[in-house]
Amino acid sequence: MKYALLLAALVACSAPHGTAGHPEVPEGAPRLVVLLVIDQWPEWSFEAKRSAFHGGFERLLAEGEWRVGEHPSAATLTAPGHALLGTGAATATSGILANEWWHRDLHSVLMAVEADDGSESTKWLRVRGLGDALAGSPAKAVGLSLKARAALLPLGHAGLAIYYDGGAARFVAHQLANGVPSPAARPWLETYTAGHPLQLAPWTMLPETGGLSGVPDDRAGETGEKGFGATFPHDPQTTKHPNDAVFAMPLGNDILFDLAEATIDGEQLGADHMPDLLVISLSAHDYVGHGWGHESEEQWDMELRLDQRIAVFLDALDKKVGAGKWAMIVTSDHGASPLPETIHGGRLTPDQVAAGANAAASAVLGPGQWIDNAHYPNIYFSAAFFTQPPNERKSAIQRVESALRSFPSIEKVGAVADAAGHCETRHGDDRALCLTFDPERSGDLYYLPARGYIMDTEDEPAATAHGSIHDYDRQVPLLILPPGRTKHAPATQPVPEMIDMREVAPMLAKWLGTKL
Ligand SMILES: [Zn+2]
Repeated sequence: MKYALLLAALVACSAPHGTAGHPEVPEGAPRLVVLLVIDQWPEWSFEAKRSAFHGGFERLLAEGEWRVGEHPSAATLTAPGHALLGTGAATATSGILANEWWHRDLHSVLMAVEADDGSESTKWLRVRGLGDALAGSPAKAVGLSLKARAALLPLGHAGLAIYYDGGAARFVAHQLANGVPSPAARPWLETYTAGHPLQLAPWTMLPETGGLSGVPDDRAGETGEKGFGATFPHDPQTTKHPNDAVFAMPLGNDILFDLAEATIDGEQLGADHMPDLLVISLSAHDYVGHGWGHESEEQWDMELRLDQRIAVFLDALDKKVGAGKWAMIVTSDHGASPLPETIHGGRLTPDQVAAGANAAASAVLGPGQWIDNAHYPNIYFSAAFFTQPPNERKSAIQRVESALRSFPSIEKVGAVADAAGHCETRHGDDRALCLTFDPERSGDLYYLPARGYIMDTEDEPAATAHGSIHDYDRQVPLLILPPGRTKHAPATQPVPEMIDMREVAPMLAKWLGTKL
């Protein structure tokens, strides 16, 4: 009996969050840990703009360390990236293949946070997230974003996720439990929403943005986004869905920071000694990148505004949580390519890949529908294909591979079965490729775009995109502001050694006094 009591006391003393006993707060722990995700933020773009920032970014660089984070796989997309930031797991382990993917058994495409019946869910995420690690403890875990997938996936299967409802032009709170988000009553959010109606003023360029980009406003390749054209001004009232236009304006960042400050008060984040987690993911940054590219006047203008808004937010953290009582990581779910027009590249669509693959298979097997889906980076053969004799299938696969390799836009084609599995025994690009696939869910073949070529769609053409295995998509700024930091001269360039982005979630967990 004495032994049992002693053991219980020992366990209680060393217990991380979520276990029985008195939770231990680590020595020097912060009260609030913030993960700020700037969606689609390539390292090359931050380096190009660094000297223009004198606000929030400057303070982050004076209080933290500027590292370059390298995403470990070629699944450099929003859903896999947000899953990785909250779990430390790449696609091979997280099971999140892309923003949407073909499910062989269901014979349909589902979004990353969509269950078989169409409801929202994080059921496809195979691993625990930071919200799971804090569940059952007095610590809170909150995710905020315009996009549902970006608010939900870093948490995992538990926590509070608040995201934007374009139809109602407001943010809605969801309690995430066992991977299912259910609308959650939050009186403070009702009051906040009533006092902060969406103000859709036109987006015009700041005087200080003029000339910084060094490129014309109507540069070739710019497509605009959410109904906006290539050039300033961008008036949401002239678009088809004005409430949806916030996704492609600096306003989309501003309303999230406003909400974040209200959430700290409303949810009492950082109010006690138990460290809480706040994830903020800035979706508008991604849409502006897609619409105009990172070299554009639009992107420069958005980031100069972001620089100022971050400064205000950091001051609010000092005031609400206390100076020195919060820690933060600022980074991104993926980078992006420079405009393909500027690097001798071009655009490729999944429909072109599917058509090319089907034509090649038909040359061996005769006319038919041999390909079910070619959503990047996977190609799934149809059920009809698998009824063909093995030798015929083998020659059809060879024909498909060689047909796709003849595309100037495609760099690599191969069998998923050869590329997947035992990733830690592989090196370099082979390891990155391996980490891109879930051996059970991924396709039969894969393809990767050549340098300079972006994945695009016919119905929504983009200025730029991301997703590839190339450095511009995988390398992102990683600004680390740990607890107990001291100020220094603001960094003007990153520390040379890169950090594997799988290390971010364990670092946050450590600050929170928990483990994934
Ligand atoms: Zn993204």
